[in-house]
Amino acid sequence: MTDHAADSAGPVEESVPAEPPWAQPSGVRITGVRTILTAPAGTTLVVVRVDTSEPGLYGLGCATFTQRAKAVATAVDEYLAPQLIGRDPADITDIASTLHVSGYWRSGPVLNNALSGVDMALWDIKGKQAGLPVWQLLGGRCRTAVPVYAHAAGRDAAEVTDEVLALMADGYGHVRCQVAVPGAGTYGAPAAAATAGAARALTPNAWDPAAYRRTVRGLFEHLREHAGSQVELIHDVHERVHPTDAVRIAADLEPYDLFYLEDPVAPEDIEWLRVLRGRSVTPIAIGELFANPAEYRPVVMERLCDFIRVHVSAIGGITPAWRLAAACEMFGVRTAWHGPGDVSPVGHAANLALDLAAPNFGIQEQHLFGQAAREVFPGCPEIRDGHLWPSDAPGLGVDLDERLALKYPPKATAEPGQAWKPPRRADGALQRP
Ligand code: MG
Repeated sequence: MTDHAADSAGPVEESVPAEPPWAQPSGVRITGVRTILTAPAGTTLVVVRVDTSEPGLYGLGCATFTQRAKAVATAVDEYLAPQLIGRDPADITDIASTLHVSGYWRSGPVLNNALSGVDMALWDIKGKQAGLPVWQLLGGRCRTAVPVYAHAAGRDAAEVTDEVLALMADGYGHVRCQVAVPGAGTYGAPAAAATAGAARALTPNAWDPAAYRRTVRGLFEHLREHAGSQVELIHDVHERVHPTDAVRIAADLEPYDLFYLEDPVAPEDIEWLRVLRGRSVTPIAIGELFANPAEYRPVVMERLCDFIRVHVSAIGGITPAWRLAAACEMFGVRTAWHGPGDVSPVGHAANLALDLAAPNFGIQEQHLFGQAAREVFPGCPEIRDGHLWPSDAPGLGVDLDERLALKYPPKATAEPGQAWKPPRRADGALQRP
């Protein structure tokens, strides 16, 4: 007998009724819950569809954890769906709370992405029932459109600067800038040249944190000189240095007036933010790897960050994200929801709803979906002039053409891109991540 079994009456408390004790007069019931995996741009996207007893009324949610897509699908299809059938889809908060503890152990990214797919689908249903977009259900809009940031990357500072100038001409006011490190790539920028030198001979294209630090400082010096001061600049460290170097980088970049420095330290090293804050006023964004909203508590309450980089599906969907945003507002911390290509258009629509309705919105990362993804997901949010534009479509406003989705089957788990491959340093040791 395990300790858990000894400490509890077992996984099912028979005295607790499965149904909530309140009346559910709508008569609408959940009749089906299933996942759809599709990869119109090569990245496996996981979408949850919740069907109801009302003809034509269904909801879609994003549950994409592309590196563990099938594990999420199993969590939804085998574990969550049986608990949802027969429930009133209106009870979003109670359903989220009930499912969150239904495995007893909780808050891992697989379960939270599964929960997120259900949560977003229920918000989508509620919006369709009301005939209103989800941002209206959250209290209405706070802004006309949502400023987004684009990505600029290059082999050297000149290439990155050219991209930044082109994006500025296209109407972008915020740009994330990543540059290759001589002899190696870095997160978001490809390798510039072949590795040379005896010190690196053990590991081709080795990751050199010191060279990275020097290169990044040179990049932003060049950018401010040639792109001016009228553009907001972002850089993503991607936790790819020792915390001591993260502190140095934040201080090094202070003269270049960043909008924010992203993920300077890993989730395991957030205590280092106290040191960093004591040495620099460079604004900090953190959190795309956090899977439990409670992980934000120390960084927000102690004001160790300026922006939360929540991957909305990784923390369980719109319900926990909206509450977290409200808590952050009390501390002057702004939102910067994660918006990469491994969030489906349904997930981007959820980001958009939160962006529009949150008074403490900061910025939104954009992803430009290609034609195939836009055909598979009719209603995919529109980006123009450096902004994400809302529609008045009820719910999240994005549909899924399942017949077309079948044309883009998910990749096999052994195929490239299905597992995260961290770099290695000169001596061969792994660099996180
Ligand atoms: Mg990032």
